[in-house]
Amino acid sequence: MESTRNDPVVIVGAGLAGLTVALHLAAQRPVVVLAKRGVHEAATAWAQGGIVGVLGHDDSIESHVRDTQDAGAGLVDEAAARFIAERSAEAIEWLVAQGVPFSPDPQGPLGLHLTREGGHAVRRIAHAADATGKAIHEALLEQVRRHPSIELRERWMAVDLITSRHLKRDEPPRCYGVYALDIERGRVDTLPAAAVVLATGGVGKVYRYTSNPDTATGDGIAMAWRAGCRVGNMEFIQFHPTCLYHPQERSFLITEALRGEGAHLKLPDGTRFMPAHDARAELAPRDIVARAIDFEMKKHGLDHVWLDATHLDAGFLKEHFPTIYARCLSLGIDITRQPIPVVPAAHYTCGGIVTDLNGRTDLPGLYAVGESTYTGLHGANRLASNSLLECVVLGRTTAQHIQAHARMEVAALPPWDESQVEDADEQVVIAHNWDELRLLMWNYVGIVRTTRRLERALHRIQLLRSEIDDYYSNFRVTRDLLELRNLVECAELIVRSALMRHESRGLHFSRDFPRTLPVSFPTILTRPAGRRWADSPPGCGL
Ligand SMILES: Cc1cc2nc3c(=O)[nH]c(=O)nc-3n(C[C@H](O)[C@H](O)[C@H](O)COP(=O)(O)OP(=O)(O)OC[C@H]3O[C@@H](n4cnc5c(N)ncnc54)[C@H](O)[C@@H]3O)c2cc1C
Repeated sequence: MESTRNDPVVIVGAGLAGLTVALHLAAQRPVVVLAKRGVHEAATAWAQGGIVGVLGHDDSIESHVRDTQDAGAGLVDEAAARFIAERSAEAIEWLVAQGVPFSPDPQGPLGLHLTREGGHAVRRIAHAADATGKAIHEALLEQVRRHPSIELRERWMAVDLITSRHLKRDEPPRCYGVYALDIERGRVDTLPAAAVVLATGGVGKVYRYTSNPDTATGDGIAMAWRAGCRVGNMEFIQFHPTCLYHPQERSFLITEALRGEGAHLKLPDGTRFMPAHDARAELAPRDIVARAIDFEMKKHGLDHVWLDATHLDAGFLKEHFPTIYARCLSLGIDITRQPIPVVPAAHYTCGGIVTDLNGRTDLPGLYAVGESTYTGLHGANRLASNSLLECVVLGRTTAQHIQAHARMEVAALPPWDESQVEDADEQVVIAHNWDELRLLMWNYVGIVRTTRRLERALHRIQLLRSEIDDYYSNFRVTRDLLELRNLVECAELIVRSALMRHESRGLHFSRDFPRTLPVSFPTILTRPAGRRWADSPPGCGL
């Protein structure tokens, strides 16, 4: 297949990161945006709290950088934090211009109401009631749908990147496009691209309990890794302390603002347990609260604990937490009268594909933005509401860089080769391995880790990998198989990163290394050359 001067920029992912890049690029170039499920399925649409904007008279860039560094426990790249903080006001103004209906306050900066969240010294969170992500996502989707240069393809899943290795010529390393599965037709197409942007979100689905949508299977991280890019800080997975525990609703988050307003965490007998763990009780940082809940659940053999807001004013709860009130009520829980069953859940992937502040990865022609990346902003722990901001600020710089540098030369790309594969005869292997992987990650690589458990996990992961690679080599690809393949890749990256960190810091807590070392560095993994786990299995057009 010939690639031409008119090749679009292919953006893999239709969350905030992908849509931001698309909207900034579309005036100059054709853009194709892929979303592997329905377009509304993205972490972006689920964000509740809000997005940082350094806007208030009492606020400053320094203050935001300091809060980001404090949360990041010594591993925040100060230059990245400052770069992003300095562009936060511009980011909020851009979102307002796209039509995002932020909660207003006539007295507030830009006419917006700013709220405050844990870890922030001042009020600096712009929000749309308690459904900020949905408001942002819908506004941007509307703009994208109206734009004649943007083609939005739902249920198209990127399988792998097309790189110089596929060309079988002595080309310098570069990304030329993607192989993508059109899920409805069950066919893999070759998509040549002037540049590819990975905006695929995090990898929360690798854990049994997660606040993330089904899309969060680390596809971009796995694809970039397979293509030879470095990944960083994968051991730092943020667990949200309070996800609703309910058989019909596995991923609904109960915002920490509820604890901020005075809700208490309790054992089944009604005892509050947080004061015994930290002087700040329920207002302690997320990682401390998540660890305390994990400790109490393991100690008492519980499936969940309770979050009790029944002592707060019912009218206040309904007005300030309308989404949580309605969702819980639909499941038979009236939060004004009953405690909420909650469990910690994998929430945010702090690490990912190593990029610079223009979204550039190690592979020319390949960019990455959003939760799939490691930029240095989050360090060992993410400060609340910094992630949406990172998507908007770096989405823009990435678009600018692509605009200035995307390649123009022509390359012939090989089609996807499925001559050696057949339709899978049974799906049970995939379903079983999904469950096994997620449970194993929850039990062995969760909130509290030990070296022995991590080693056991690595061993099991390697067995799973070889089964999955075997399956991938012999059968036609499906979304479930591709996601499982990516999850197991990311699981291994998480475990290997965790094994390399001989200390406890931020979100990584090891019983064998409980101390925080005086000096520490990010964990950067480089793909080892010529080793089995680094090889691409057949069936991917190589
Ligand atoms: C419940 C919840 C609440 C949150 N609250 C906040 C908050 O208040 N403030 C804040 O700053 N952050 C919050 N976050 C984090 C924030 O929402 C995310 O970090 C951010 O939205 C990530 O945006 P993204 O564009 O990188 O990824 P996403 O929004 O997850 O989008 C990923 C996109 O990639 C697509 N995709 C993935 N793989 C493929 C593939 N192989 N092929 C094609 N498409 C693919 C998906 O279909 C999807 O369209 C929250 C997260 C959750 C889960």
